[in-house]
Amino acid sequence: MVKESIYGLTFEQLAASLLERGHKPYQASLVWEYLYRKRVTSFSEMSDVKKECIEMLSESFEFQTMQQHVKQESEDGTIKFLFKLRDGNLIETVLMKHKYGLSVCVTTQVGCNIGCSFCASGLLAKSRDLSSGEIVEQIMNVQLHLDQRNQDEKVSHIVVMGIGEPFDNFENMIDFIKVVINHKGLAIGARHITVSTSGLANRIYEFADSQLPVNLAISLHAPNNELRTRIMKINRAIPIEKLMESLDYYLEKTNKRITIEYILLRDVNDHKEEAEQLADLLQDKKQKVYVNLIPYNPVDEHSQYQRSEEESVLTFYDTLKKRGINCKIRQEHGTDIDAACGQLRSKQIKKEKAQ
Ligand code: SAH
Ligand code: SF4
Repeated sequence: MVKESIYGLTFEQLAASLLERGHKPYQASLVWEYLYRKRVTSFSEMSDVKKECIEMLSESFEFQTMQQHVKQESEDGTIKFLFKLRDGNLIETVLMKHKYGLSVCVTTQVGCNIGCSFCASGLLAKSRDLSSGEIVEQIMNVQLHLDQRNQDEKVSHIVVMGIGEPFDNFENMIDFIKVVINHKGLAIGARHITVSTSGLANRIYEFADSQLPVNLAISLHAPNNELRTRIMKINRAIPIEKLMESLDYYLEKTNKRITIEYILLRDVNDHKEEAEQLADLLQDKKQKVYVNLIPYNPVDEHSQYQRSEEESVLTFYDTLKKRGINCKIRQEHGTDIDAACGQLRSKQIKKEKAQ
């Protein structure tokens, strides 16, 4: 039998399965403490937990379902990990250092079916979803790496912006969030977690209804349907009007702000005219949205796209500001180590195929 990752269980699921076998909820709290506070890496280290509980858990679960395959460190402190899953698939996880703390960018799927024309992750179609355990394990692997450095560092922020479309792996993504925000465990502040989606409107309604207090980011990247469909084919099925309706619902239901992501692509979507159109589109919700202008990370296979000129970036920014739209130009991390999402993975796969 293939054992699942122990990190995939939410606290409630663990407590329920122990209860079913007649164990007290206290045992679940103990296991959880060993997993996420003491951060042991084997069942044998859980010395206070009842023997029968350990036996039961070790029959079905294990700690490590992936191995570190490649690790790249950047001068700015960014570390990019490539993990090899049990089935041989490779996934990426990135640790970034900020003034406000340490953030980790996690992968949710092996590949991505959305296939945006500028993205390295979409180069390879999705071969499978990651389990919730495989998503939590990425955070744990990074945290264990930090623990080894012995500098009392803790992952404080999470962005669900690695390979894959998190809303296409919805249930596992939700369980992942429940695990990492739980106060008995890693206790990462929900307000420090951001989930990014290419705009699967149906799931945005569901996400709003879930009332999980994490942040939502939308990969918009174009202010009109013609242009958005050209660069993101998902826009054909879910056009901007549908997406905006779902955002209105989200804003009403949650009273939270939304981040709008906008990659600036030279001479494609970076003219003043598009900035004006974007301001028009967001005008009625300008108190509640925040635009992140993202410098494009060039991808070899998508050579039709280049990074915008600095002057265009500043004009775009000024135009939004003048129209009262909150925005900022995103700081880059680890550009010297293939930081664009999915880039290290696709390069490594090519390299290994050539060998
Ligand atoms: N699938 C989700 C989350 C993963 S992508 C989504 O699309 O939102 C995370 C972010 O990285 C998205 O905003 C995506 O558009 C952006 N991105 C993808 N390729 C990029 C590149 N080459 N340079 C800069 N940002 C990129
Ligand atoms: Fe998938 Fe997001 Fe990349 Fe689009 S940008 S291909 S949705 S990972």
